[in-house]
Amino acid sequence: MSEIEIPETHPRYESLLTRHRIEAGIETGITSKQGLIAQGRGEAFDYLLGEQTIESASAAGRAAAAHLLLADHAVLSINGNVATLVPGEMVELAEATDAELEVNLFNRTDERMEAIADHLREHGATEVKGLAADGTIPGLDHERAKVDADGIGAADVVLVPLEDGDRAEALAEMGTTELVVDLNPLSRSAQTATVPIVDNVIRAVPAMTEHASELRGDPEAQQAAIEAFDPEAALAAAEEAIRSGDL
Ligand code: ATP
Ligand code: MG
Repeated sequence: MSEIEIPETHPRYESLLTRHRIEAGIETGITSKQGLIAQGRGEAFDYLLGEQTIESASAAGRAAAAHLLLADHAVLSINGNVATLVPGEMVELAEATDAELEVNLFNRTDERMEAIADHLREHGATEVKGLAADGTIPGLDHERAKVDADGIGAADVVLVPLEDGDRAEALAEMGTTELVVDLNPLSRSAQTATVPIVDNVIRAVPAMTEHASELRGDPEAQQAAIEAFDPEAALAAAEEAIRSGDL
């Protein structure tokens, strides 16, 4: 994928680069047109957050990394926006936490599933789940419910960046520990998460990998990171930062 020529000194460099990546993702069939709209919604929140990882989001990322490390079976869910924005970073997080990668699309077509799986393999993934689609999440209509029975269907911890609210709720009802990255603290996805990370996936995913490297092999520190995190307080802190942040 070619990057465009934006001078790195441009004040909106990251944001312009992100937009370009989503656009390129549409051209290669990885991202859906709906993904453009989702990105626009996310950007508005990120603008108000000052395009930075606030302290409560950093604590959330640490708790999420701890959950992934302590899991029996952790899965990282990949949709079109995530695949185009942070493909290599998701592969690295999967390696750092021994998690599996599963493609899981709201607007599911075989072509997009294959294009995303190929894209992840190009970024170093060895195994990509989601294509079997032989399991279902209860409480959702047929197309939206599809998962791999031995992937998300059997996971005890799932990271779902930018997940749709309905599916986030249905997954939580299955008793799965749900880690959500979503810039909107009022989104149902963030509200139903065990660990809501109110941050841009571009910053949140590499940060989680760093936390995981630090916490790896230290179950006491992992437990402490989980206990120190309060989802309601984190959502309130993010909402406060968005409403009253001074830019
Ligand atoms: P609800 O969760 O309330 O049901 P929704 O999930 O249907 O709403 P969408 O607009 O479809 O709403 O979801 C997109 C979500 O993804 C938005 O909440 C947006 O803030 C978030 N988002 C978009 N881009 C990013 C990004 N790069 N990083 C983090 N979050 C993002
Ligand atoms: Mg949502």
